[in-house]
Amino acid sequence: MATKVPEMYGSLVFNDKIMKDKLPKDIYKALRKTIEKGTHLELDVANAVAIAMKEWAVENGATHFTHWFQPLTGYTAEKHDSFISPTDNGEVIMEFSGKELVKGEPDASSFPSGGIRATFEARGYTAWDPSSPAFIKDGTLYIPTAFCSYTGEALDKKTPLLRSMDALSKEATKVLNLLGNTEVESVTTTVGPEQEYFLIDKEDYKKRRDLRFTGRTLLGAPAPKGQEMDDHYFGSIRPRVSAYMHDLDEELWKLGIPAKTKHNEVAPAQHELAPVFDTTNVAVDHNQLTMEIMKKVAEKHDLVCLLHEKPFAGINGSGKHNNWSMSTNTGINLLDPGKTPAENTQFLVFLAAVIKAVDEYSDMMRLSVASAGNDHRLGANEAPPAIISIFLGDELTAVIDSIENDTFFKKDASVVMEMGASVIPHFTKDTTDRNRTSPFAFTGNKFEFRSLGSSASVATPNIILNTAVADALSEFYDQLKDVSKERFDEAVHELIKATIIQHKRVIFNGNGYANDWVVEAEKRGLYNLKSTVDVLPKLLEKKNIDLFTKHGIYTETEIRSRYDVLLENYSKTLHIEACTLKDMIYHDFMGAASKFMDGLSASILAKKQVSSAISTSAEESMLTKISAKYEALAKETEALESDIAKAESMEEGLEMAAFYHDVIFEDMLKVREIADYIESYIPDEDLPYPTYSQILFYV
Ligand code: ADP
Ligand code: MG
Repeated sequence: MATKVPEMYGSLVFNDKIMKDKLPKDIYKALRKTIEKGTHLELDVANAVAIAMKEWAVENGATHFTHWFQPLTGYTAEKHDSFISPTDNGEVIMEFSGKELVKGEPDASSFPSGGIRATFEARGYTAWDPSSPAFIKDGTLYIPTAFCSYTGEALDKKTPLLRSMDALSKEATKVLNLLGNTEVESVTTTVGPEQEYFLIDKEDYKKRRDLRFTGRTLLGAPAPKGQEMDDHYFGSIRPRVSAYMHDLDEELWKLGIPAKTKHNEVAPAQHELAPVFDTTNVAVDHNQLTMEIMKKVAEKHDLVCLLHEKPFAGINGSGKHNNWSMSTNTGINLLDPGKTPAENTQFLVFLAAVIKAVDEYSDMMRLSVASAGNDHRLGANEAPPAIISIFLGDELTAVIDSIENDTFFKKDASVVMEMGASVIPHFTKDTTDRNRTSPFAFTGNKFEFRSLGSSASVATPNIILNTAVADALSEFYDQLKDVSKERFDEAVHELIKATIIQHKRVIFNGNGYANDWVVEAEKRGLYNLKSTVDVLPKLLEKKNIDLFTKHGIYTETEIRSRYDVLLENYSKTLHIEACTLKDMIYHDFMGAASKFMDGLSASILAKKQVSSAISTSAEESMLTKISAKYEALAKETEALESDIAKAESMEEGLEMAAFYHDVIFEDMLKVREIADYIESYIPDEDLPYPTYSQILFYV
């Protein structure tokens, strides 16, 4: 089996090797130039590529093609057209033109646009993104595309992502050239997203309307055992899960997605998959595909893959770690400190740029991961806190301190690990330990942004990271560009020092879960934006609009549209959750609770009939307790119901979202608390849905 992997890998991808084989030399060269330098693609080149693509796709069983894009829903969208073209004699030939490859015209009216495009102006365009390879899935050739309105506004996540990559490349190259690194022509950002997920049995899933409608459980008493024994993390993988992971790897490999690491996660039934990193744009497309394939492969194994950020209360939720770096076209990772970071000016300039970027735009970083689902994690003692800070580790912190204080940095001699057993090979210890609580941690030669939610596209966090760092670099360039040769080194040193002094408040190497940090962060003037509703208005602040418009990432209209879509999304999510909870209580739960009380009452009466000497006090006390809770449950559910009606009559916008957050969400918690209490007394088989114990420990 293992020997076949290299052949299987990428077998459904129109990759570089196939392009080279199939395309005439000059066409291949022109296409490479477009991919690498972003130059305009001529129609004759597009035509030749289209023919080769179609031939390859048909050879591999494809009958259709689709422009695949990423609307603001956060999911992907596609519309399939077949290659067939009827001929005069009643037969068909398979056709695909350069025009069809380059441009599509889906009806844009049914995708969220936040009011950019009135529904009567339905025209939208998709445009081929040659930098992300086409692939075959389910008999269709998928062509990654960007999606915009008739008037040219981006209606998707890919367009601003590509713009942000361009902005970073431009600003980073300018700074590198100025620092004397004149061979560098472009800089790309790279991303490796680690994806967490839950696997549960399909039968359990089908029986719970909360999971089906909202992706998370809205009710459910905790199982007697959670994750406290730490026995699941990295634990041996059970056969059913292992078979799933095996299939998943194969499907991903065929699509050229370099799935690399898999293991059990902290919570029961939770797992993780990490690919080898790639160019940001490709990594984003691949992560979307990975999430889709994860769900599809689960179906085959009679499992369901849950990507929600918090499917179960009381145990860890799921996130994504966005490993991020920048590398030059000459192959240098700009965040690699090398052996002597203190002497690596280039590294220090880029490190300073990242520190400045994260400090100045921490509100946008928080915004980039904001969603109703992720609000359950951030700050809830498992995921990183909602306060955005940077972990640098001991060595880099010492380097930074020495720059700030003009002292000499002395590197600790590298320490050889002694495991005390001679058969174990010796290796040198990392210069810093890991910190699992930091939202943005330096991990050797990259930063790891850990606040991302498991279900969201990784596009937005990278758009913001790229843009904020591009902005810091452009300021650096402006400060250095007119400095004379003689003073240059000194000016660079001063720039790094001044940046550190100004932005070091964002650096924090301690425990991000501690309460002290909340107090300390406030003293330092850092944001603690706890919910989506808290952070969304920041998007419209002038400093942030200026950032995006200055670098051509979003127009002001595009920013406002995203604001509207995010708000709407938040309110809609909570509305669906609230309605589902109400339904579950009325349709599923109250009946079961009532039957339970019937049983108790019947038992009390029966005993009394037999003899007044038999005690019924245990049943009576339980019946009294449950009856009181049942009354309270009815009352709280009615309150929820009437608040839902209030919300429905409100006008869409921030006020409505705030009402969902402040009132409806609290109503739901109250309902849940009572229901979970009652649930813990009802026998499993009398409940209309499977419990946490049943769901979490059997796959
Ligand atoms: P861990 O977080 O467990 O230490 P690794 O260090 O192996 O895991 O890497 C985590 C992810 O970071 C992987 O997807 C890996 O490919 C990615 N990664 C490694 N180097 C880079 C880089 N220069 N840019 C972006 N991602 C990277
Ligand atoms: Mg990690």
